[in-house]
Formats: sequence, C-alpha cells, structure tokens
Amino acid sequence: MRTQTEYDVIVVGGGPSGATAAHDLACAGYKVMLLDKAGRIKPCGGAVPPRLLKDFDIPQTMLVAHAKSARIIAPSNKKVMMPVGDGYVGMVDRDSFDEWLRNRAAEAGATRVTGKCETVDDSAAVVKLSYRSERNGPLHTVTTRSVIGADGARSSVAAQCLKNAERVKCVYAYHEIVEVPDNVTEDYDPTRCDVYYQGHLSPDFYAWIFPHGKTASIGLGSADKGFPLRETTRLMREQTGLSHWKTLRREGAPIPLKPLKRWDNGRNVVVAGDAAGVVAPSSGEGIYYAMTAGRMSADAVAAFLKSGNPSALRLARKSFMKAHGRVFWILGIMQYFWYKNDKRRERFVKMCEDPDVQRLTWEAYMNKQLVRRDPMAHLRIFFKDLGHLFGLKPVER
Ligand SMILES: Cc1cc2nc3c(=O)[nH]c(=O)nc-3n(C[C@H](O)[C@H](O)[C@H](O)COP(=O)(O)OP(=O)(O)OC[C@H]3O[C@@H](n4cnc5c(N)ncnc54)[C@H](O)[C@@H]3O)c2cc1C
Repeated sequence: MRTQTEYDVIVVGGGPSGATAAHDLACAGYKVMLLDKAGRIKPCGGAVPPRLLKDFDIPQTMLVAHAKSARIIAPSNKKVMMPVGDGYVGMVDRDSFDEWLRNRAAEAGATRVTGKCETVDDSAAVVKLSYRSERNGPLHTVTTRSVIGADGARSSVAAQCLKNAERVKCVYAYHEIVEVPDNVTEDYDPTRCDVYYQGHLSPDFYAWIFPHGKTASIGLGSADKGFPLRETTRLMREQTGLSHWKTLRREGAPIPLKPLKRWDNGRNVVVAGDAAGVVAPSSGEGIYYAMTAGRMSADAVAAFLKSGNPSALRLARKSFMKAHGRVFWILGIMQYFWYKNDKRRERFVKMCEDPDVQRLTWEAYMNKQLVRRDPMAHLRIFFKDLGHLFGLKPVER
C-alpha cells in the first residue's frame, strides 16, 4: 500500500548534485521538492571535464572559458607545460551554473523552495522534514517518502541520519575571485590553468590560478587546519605579480576527500555529492562526481519508491564505487606519496614532463575512465614512477 505524503522525495541542497537528482526524478514523474538555502555562491574553481557536458546535457554556453593546457610549477619554480591536445578543461561560474541546473529541475516539474533544512525525522516510514524560509521565520514541516541529502560538505542531513558522517576528513580550500584587467601580465594566459606544487603555498595539497574569462580564481587548499590560507593566498598573488588585480570575492569551504562508508540510513534517506564525500583525492575535482552521485542516488531512490524495498538505496554507493572507486583509490595513493614534501613534489612535476603521463592523465580526466587500451604506456609509467619515487632519476634544477 502506498503511504500518503506530500512528496515522493525531498532533495535537500540545490548544488550540482541535488539539482541533478531533482531533475532526473522529476523527469521520471515523481513528486519532487528541491529545497535550497540559497544566498551564497559556492566557493569553487569551476573546472569541469568535457564528459560532464556530454553526460548531463549541459550546453557549451555555460562555459565561461576553455583551458587548453595546464602549467605545473615545482618547488624549484621549474615549470612543465601540459597541453590538453584535442580536448579542453571547461570553466563554469558557479552562480550561473548552479542556478541553470536548479531552473532545469523546476522546468522538469520539481517544486523549488528556498529555505534551510533544520531537522529530518527519519524514524518512521513517512519522513518529516522541517525547514525555515527566513532566519527567524516559522518552521514548516513537510512529509515525504524519501530524502536525498545533497547539502554539501558537513551535511546536516548526513549528520542527522547517518552514523559517523561528521568525521569525514577534509581539505580546507580558499580562493579569491579577481577581475582580469584589460592589460594582463605576460605570464598570465587566459587559456591555461596554473597548478603550484610548492610546500610554502600548500604543505599537503596544491595552489591554483584558473582562468574564468573576465575573472580568475586564485586559491589553495590544505588539510592542516592551522595553515594560514588567506595570508598564503596574499603571498601567492605577490609571487605571481597579481596583487594589484581587483578582488571581487574572498571565500572558502571544506572539501571532503573520502566517500562515506554508507550513504543511506537503511530506510528512506540517502546522501550524494560532497555530502557523501565524493571529491577526487589529489585533484579536489568534485562537480562531475557530485552530479554523477546525484544521478545514481536518484536511480536508487526511484528503485526504492517503485519496490518499497529500502535495500535499493544501497545501489547509489554501489554504482558509484563500481564506476569510480578505483580511480579514487589511485588518486588517494598519489596524494599520499607525492604531496608529502618538496623533494617528492619536485619529482612529481618532473614526472609530468613525460608524454605518456600527460596523455593518460588528460584522457582519464576528460573521459573519466582509466585508459585501458595502451597497457604498455601504463607499464612504462609504472617503472618511471618507481624510478622517480626512489630517486633513481636525476632531478634537474
Ligand atoms: C575553493 C574550492 C575550489 C574548488 N574547485 C573545484 C574545481 O575547480 N572543480 C571541481 O570539479 N570541483 C571543485 N571543488 C569542489 C566542488 O565545488 C564540490 O565538490 C561541488 O560543489 C559539490 O557539489 P554538491 O552539489 O555536492 O555540493 P554543493 O555545491 O556544496 O551544494 C550544496 C547545496 O546545498 C545547500 N545547502 C546546504 N545546507 C543546506 C540546508 N541545511 N538546507 C538547504 N540547503 C542547504 C547549499 O546552499 C548548496 O546550494 C572546489 C571546492 C572548493 C571549496
């Protein structure tokens, strides 16, 4: 017997993950509420792979820039160019991108509500969810058969409905959005992403300058809570001659780098995106994975709503880990080894000169699949990797 509720599913959070889940479920004919607290642009470098546009039917007009290369900078200041080849790295501005995704979900039939989710009572078959549309405004309570928690890192839905969710390890990322002047310095290329592997800029992650057309994102991340992110960004802007560019926004947020062990409560709630911890280690890439996890959570919820069997909710994590678990594992090991100290960072950058490394890196990034058709290239990289790790290859300075 079908339980009487106002909604089939309430999606909490209208970022890339939640908006994708709400869109998919509304398209499938379910009664969906998309609840987002709004009022803040998500701090984000905005770099996305071409595969994201293809998988989620995103028009090219959403891209504010196409990066055609990356420049990797070592502790010694040695610079390695990595041209993308036939592909590109797309850049989205999160204010317009997220709003476009939310609108698309509403056009598909989801009810868009602006408000902050306060409590999720998931103790019975009917979930009671309470939210406020204004800070001290009245509490509204709605009933639903299921909830998707896509409310980002430090998710309140995950904290309320899943065990140990709040313990996820995070990198704290901070960036400044700056206006690109008409006369840029010779060293700035609007079609290139600069990535700094320098211990003084980040002791355990990296720093970046990403072009966004009329603006640029300059930032860095570290898992060290005491690391002075703002002060170091100031130093980096000095180091790169970008101090005088006008700062439009200063903002930061945690990035979770490990998928939660469990994404559902075994009854009627499942989490997705940053709330589920699905950001790639090493790179911090989260938008594509958030949308993928949103879609997989939507599929799992649809299976649950159809069958009434809560074990269907487990499909979300299972499908995600099957598709991307191995890449996350490899990227986690890479981060552990290569981001440890400047000596290793220097070797890592040197390794990026290798044509096999460049080709496989870009193919894997753009297509979101491990490249299997060239096993010899993997073997060559494996031995070169070992050589670099144990210092058998000289590092030129
Ligand atoms: C500085 C920085 C740079 C980054 N750069 C990149 C990059 O270049 N490329 C990349 O792929 N990834 C990048 N990431 C990671 C990426 O931003 C995230 O992985 C991605 O935004 C996750 O999407 P999401 O939908 O899961 O969560 P979010 O984008 O965080 O969206 C969560 C949504 O939930 C809403 N919300 C939160 N709490 C509540 C509540 N209680 N009630 C209602 N709504 C709520 C918020 O308003 C928000 O809209 C970066 C992250 C940071 C911090």
